[in-house]
Amino acid sequence: MAKIIDGKAISAQIRAELKEETEAFVKATGVRPGLAVIIVGNDPASQVYVRNKRRACEEVGYYSEAYELPENTTQEELNALVDRLNADNKIHGILCQLPLPKHLDENEVILRIDPKKDVDAFHPYNVGKIMIGDYAFLPCTPAGVMALLERSGIEISGKECVVVGRSNIVGKPQAMLLLHANGTVTVCHSRTKNLAEVCRRADILVAAIGKADFFTGDMVKEGAVVIDVGMNRRADGKLTGDVDFASVEPKASYITPVPGGVGPMTITMLMQNTLTSAKNSVK
Ligand code: NDP
Repeated sequence: MAKIIDGKAISAQIRAELKEETEAFVKATGVRPGLAVIIVGNDPASQVYVRNKRRACEEVGYYSEAYELPENTTQEELNALVDRLNADNKIHGILCQLPLPKHLDENEVILRIDPKKDVDAFHPYNVGKIMIGDYAFLPCTPAGVMALLERSGIEISGKECVVVGRSNIVGKPQAMLLLHANGTVTVCHSRTKNLAEVCRRADILVAAIGKADFFTGDMVKEGAVVIDVGMNRRADGKLTGDVDFASVEPKASYITPVPGGVGPMTITMLMQNTLTSAKNSVK
């Protein structure tokens, strides 16, 4: 029987710590951390994320602004808003909810956000910092995974870590963080041969491919730590991960559930980055 890593509880604990740290910071400097969230169009999933981010800001005591722009917003209008927020000293973090409608260029927005306010850590400057292990901001979802491992007392140094998925927002930065923590890291993707065999080598397996219940018990080593980043909607609307919990849980030593595992950590790490940015702004 695996120990369940409770992402909700760990996230609540970190947010309570952030709230305390924020109050002390506000008292000392008179500066309240501020986050601006931009959403373009009517994607329901994005709207839920934006609402959750606002709620998280309230919970930890940040100032927040939300910009809900219409679907037909032009690149120039979006750029102008980013420029304004870059110059606004109440705002320490700017986040543009992706994906954007097709006619808008995501890369242009990512490049336009001041790297000092890039709390998603998507700007190439911050991506580069992650690569060399000198973080300005933590990549939110992978940092959430690292916090879950650390707070569950799981040793990474010297462990075989297999990350499945190589996206810029999850797989690649995840591999980098595990490497900086001295894991021996293998990154797999859709062209990987003998995926099950590679996965069975893992002491720590991070599943981030976006395929419901893909990882089954026969792909996991006895006693492995299994982290499920996947968030997939079943036909009945229920949320499920990339890991087939029923067959993997009996073999794993630790496992994250979906929902209630990695999910709650991502926004918490965003809050952490916003506080870091506010602190950097008064240095
Ligand atoms: P992407 O679609 O950008 O990347 C998926 C990756 O998985 C790609 O590298 C792809 O390989 C790989 N892949 C797809 N199918 C297979 C397969 N059959 N075997 C091996 N590798 C495969 O997804 P993201 O990284 O953005 O997200 C991954 C999952 O994590 C999704 O379910 C997403 O919803 C979830 N997520 C959860 C977050 C959270 O807060 N918990 C935050 C962000 C994402 P290739 O590169 O070769 O195409």
